[in-house]
Amino acid sequence: MTFHINTRKPHMARPPNRPDQDIGRKEGENLVADCPRCGAKKMTFDLFASVPGLEPMCEAFCQCRRCFRSTIFLVTNDRAINRSHQHQDLVNALKYAPGEVQVIRPLSLADVLTELPPLHVPEDISSIFVEASRCLAIGCMNAAGTMCRLCLDLATKRRMADLDLESPNKWTQEKLGPRLAWLFEHKALPASMKGLADCIKEDGNDGAHEGTLGAAEAGDLHDFTRQLLVHLYSNDGQIREAESRRMARRAAARSATPSP
Ligand SMILES: [Zn+2]
Repeated sequence: MTFHINTRKPHMARPPNRPDQDIGRKEGENLVADCPRCGAKKMTFDLFASVPGLEPMCEAFCQCRRCFRSTIFLVTNDRAINRSHQHQDLVNALKYAPGEVQVIRPLSLADVLTELPPLHVPEDISSIFVEASRCLAIGCMNAAGTMCRLCLDLATKRRMADLDLESPNKWTQEKLGPRLAWLFEHKALPASMKGLADCIKEDGNDGAHEGTLGAAEAGDLHDFTRQLLVHLYSNDGQIREAESRRMARRAAARSATPSP
């Protein structure tokens, strides 16, 4: 997607039913991008304010001249913008060097802060957990529940396969509820987590499958998923890290001791 900066004076007449559209509008403080609100391509936006983002980017609060709705764009101009004079630098760049300013993308719900996944979780499960957290943060409860169940499914199947025990029947192997019960029974999961596991119905027919998951149920599933991942991966990983540090300290002590 290509974006251009437009430094021309606003050309669209102010609509009669929108008397306040020119508040804050100044010549040159506008840019051109596709509008995520009305779908207009290469539309002119007026820049109202900007704040520093991750360097060298900043976040520019803009208004579409077609639909008059606001959008925050992620904008970069790595030569002209610095954090101390960021807004004025962006305004100057739009006026005098518009070719150096690029609109990266509009900020969206995907930019909502989500909690970090537990440590030492395998990458595939970790990325699904991040997706679950993001869905929960933006109120997509059924999607969050489905992602949590997928995390639980992958993690418990691997845990079951790692145990040096006779494989259970097919129903237990395939269904999350019976699999969790089997893991509790064989002490592969702590009994203290049994209460949290109540969010997983025995037949797997919970709200995530029916599309009726509410915020409380999705929150329960997310909590249980986090705790299970912490138990299965983070605790062991931290113990391994502590053991590595212990070995390193011993090796350093041995090398510091003079030979007889
Ligand atoms: Zn628009």
